[in-house]
Amino acid sequence: MNRMKKIQWKTWNGKRGGHVQLLGVLIMLMFLLCACGNTGSQQEVTGKSGGNSTDNDTEDTLATDEMQVHFMDVGHGDSTLITCGDHAMLIDTGDDSKGTTIQNYIQKRGIKKLDYLILTHPDKDHIGGAPVIITKFDIDQVFMSYYEKDSKTYKKVLEALDYRNLNYTTPEVGTVYTLGSAKFTVIAPNGGYDQYGDDSNNSSIGFVLENGKNRFLFTGDAEEAAENDIVKNGIDIRADVYQVGHHGSKTSTTEALLESVQPSFAVISCGVNDDHGHPNAQTLNRLRGMGVQVYRTDEQGSIIATSDGEKITWNCAPSTTWKSGEGTKSSDVKTEAAKENGTVSDEKKDLQDEIPDMEDAEVETQTQWDDTDQEVSTGYVLNTKSMKFHLPTCNKLPSQKNREDTDMSRDEIIAQGYEPCKRCNP
Ligand SMILES: [Zn+2]
Ligand SMILES: [Zn+2]
Repeated sequence: MNRMKKIQWKTWNGKRGGHVQLLGVLIMLMFLLCACGNTGSQQEVTGKSGGNSTDNDTEDTLATDEMQVHFMDVGHGDSTLITCGDHAMLIDTGDDSKGTTIQNYIQKRGIKKLDYLILTHPDKDHIGGAPVIITKFDIDQVFMSYYEKDSKTYKKVLEALDYRNLNYTTPEVGTVYTLGSAKFTVIAPNGGYDQYGDDSNNSSIGFVLENGKNRFLFTGDAEEAAENDIVKNGIDIRADVYQVGHHGSKTSTTEALLESVQPSFAVISCGVNDDHGHPNAQTLNRLRGMGVQVYRTDEQGSIIATSDGEKITWNCAPSTTWKSGEGTKSSDVKTEAAKENGTVSDEKKDLQDEIPDMEDAEVETQTQWDDTDQEVSTGYVLNTKSMKFHLPTCNKLPSQKNREDTDMSRDEIIAQGYEPCKRCNP
């Protein structure tokens, strides 16, 4: 009897032990799942919808989406669209005459939302088109440099953010953000640069973008002082593709930076009739000396690099001119590069509307009047080049090339950076 009781007890106890073990395994599993989730969010700051696919995947099983990096031809200035899977981000927006053209370029690709908008620094050739982009697209996160510029262009960007109830943040160096299967690590700005003449270039946000094994480096208009800090901060900046800092200016792309980056390819975003002398001969020689293949928007229009995680392919052949921007005349004609994609040539034409401008000066651009008859419609008429808007009955409407009819409200148009025509007072 006693024995039987003992056996019964043991059996029951054994069963109970089984339950305890099972419960233990479940708790461990839950803990592991939570731990994975936590590790993900500690290492990678994810956009609202970005990077969900990476959370529970190990590096071995992580599927790599196709990533495209579009270095858009915006004349003197920068604007780079990056797509990865269903995700998209935009780096800079050219000057204020390029906003609508960039908007069209993005919309043509079926993109309605940007995971990130990065405005590297507040010079007009980088943020001028931002009011249009901010009002036209849903944006999850806006990153801007800490540098606050006292300019009309900068004010318009802040007004557009206000209009959409958006705030900007300056990302911290070392933070990693995801974009589909791609991720980018912030490498700059590393601090204030007041001692270097308080210019906004050195305040540029810089980052390394990775998709699988492919790496791209962006440094905005960072000059020597900021480049030195980027090299020193210890983050791995080796990259297959280097977007040449400050449009190929001699103030950037130091030997120290290039030695750390060791790029195979370089892309220079610069204008044809570049009053700034970009790219500089010394910068081109440095790249040439390292055997880097150079692509340039002034010669080849918009340049698209496609990464499958293993290799990078291009929509055009690299430049072979090694021609510096010093002493170029406005009569220079862009060389025609072989294009695999026919639509790029069309977009190139759109994006080639050159307005020579000074990076830091607020230049009032001239409206191009056209006396041909225009059909009258309701709403307002935008001049996407001069950034003025008119009543459809105004007797000086823009030419068809720069004209966009819109049903938008007056407030929305102004939020995009347009100004009312002084003749028709819309
Ligand atoms: Zn610039
Ligand atoms: Zn700049």
